[in-house]
Amino acid sequence: MVPQVMLDPGHGGDDPGATGVDGLLEKDLNLAVALKVRAHLGRRPFFDCALTRQADVSVDLLKRSEMANADPANVLFVSIHHNGATDPRACGSEIFYQNRSPDSAAFAAILERQLAAKVNLPWRRTVFRLNAAGTADYYSVLRNTRCPSVIAEVGFVTCPDEAPVLRENWFQELVALAIADSVEQWMHHVWRGA
Ligand SMILES: [Zn+2]
Repeated sequence: MVPQVMLDPGHGGDDPGATGVDGLLEKDLNLAVALKVRAHLGRRPFFDCALTRQADVSVDLLKRSEMANADPANVLFVSIHHNGATDPRACGSEIFYQNRSPDSAAFAAILERQLAAKVNLPWRRTVFRLNAAGTADYYSVLRNTRCPSVIAEVGFVTCPDEAPVLRENWFQELVALAIADSVEQWMHHVWRGA
């Protein structure tokens, strides 16, 4: 079986995600980057690529995990997001990975290096985040997806320095290339087959 990565463009449809400078919508950036990642990965023969949404449509959070869990070929889940904050000084990239998943943490570390090398926004943190009870991952897609999973928050749509570049095609291409190269590295060096 050819291993598969599931790309998950966050939000969509009636859920815009964060709204930023000049009406920039997180959901549009997430989808644009995910489609570019798929274009890069489509040229690499070792693994397949699927998406939880391919258009501006609503997809339930649990459904996103179920799509990955339902396919035995799926070995990695990458949720693509952009951040928003009321404080315009909040800027930079961050990654959340699954608690107690060394392969998830390994992908997060690879992706941090790739984003730093190709994109180089200020780095905020690469962490896992637990729910209030401290018993499970805080984020639904990390908690409910069985394979190694991360959420990449590329940058802040509310940051005046970042929003203008986040919407640029050339910048989205660099982000997509960083994600695609990370997937390839992880497949070759971390994932050991099933
Ligand atoms: Zn989001």
